Amino acid sequence: MAITKTDFMRGMQCRKMLWLDKHKPGLRVIPPEVQARLDAGNDFGDLAMGMFGPYEEMTVYLPGKRIPNKKAMIEKTQDALARGVPVICEAAFSNYNNYCAVDILRRTETGYDLYEVKNAPEVQEQFIRDAGFQYYIVSRCGLKIGHICIVIHGPDEENPFVPVDVTRQAKGYYRYINDNIWDLNRMQKEPEEVETAPGEHCTSPYECWYYEYCHGQRNEKSSMSLEDI
Ligand code: SF4
Repeated sequence: MAITKTDFMRGMQCRKMLWLDKHKPGLRVIPPEVQARLDAGNDFGDLAMGMFGPYEEMTVYLPGKRIPNKKAMIEKTQDALARGVPVICEAAFSNYNNYCAVDILRRTETGYDLYEVKNAPEVQEQFIRDAGFQYYIVSRCGLKIGHICIVIHGPDEENPFVPVDVTRQAKGYYRYINDNIWDLNRMQKEPEEVETAPGEHCTSPYECWYYEYCHGQRNEKSSMSLEDI
């Protein structure tokens, strides 16, 4: 695979972050509170799959591992689309090996609406950029996308899934994605470590897991999958 959604989001926060992901992932240090937040987000995402009723999930793991089998997921998604499945979760797409998995696709009269689930009380700009990346890949694969929504965590715990329509903003990221995805793809393969000076990007929009490495402190190993972001 070339650039995934996670790669793009991390590479646009800091190119060195993406380079380290590919060449020195053992340097990551993930604070326990961040891990807990990621786990809660995964649980919220799992529950959201049923927000429109019955669905088919495309997740396939490599034998004996909790690592997604992307090739199998892409094939399974194409089969679900061909059958006109009304709600498809973790729908996987690849364009020139760039890859994304969409939390929820919901069939419409003209194509599908796209839903990105975030366990957060309000929409943040990086969520829209994330959805924009998915739109870029999915639309280049030939699927017609109508509305794009971020599903946030509303105050009603009985029904916490609140879709917020961000169609115009997310589709507006198309050129931005195209202008950067190929450069990130080339950069991540560079043999020499990319040099980026620490700055505000080390904590915004997300605290970097290489913070201790770049700021000259000791680090430990982490086994977390980057696909869990
Ligand atoms: S700590 Fe800062 S400079 Fe180092 S990889 Fe992370 S974001 Fe980039």
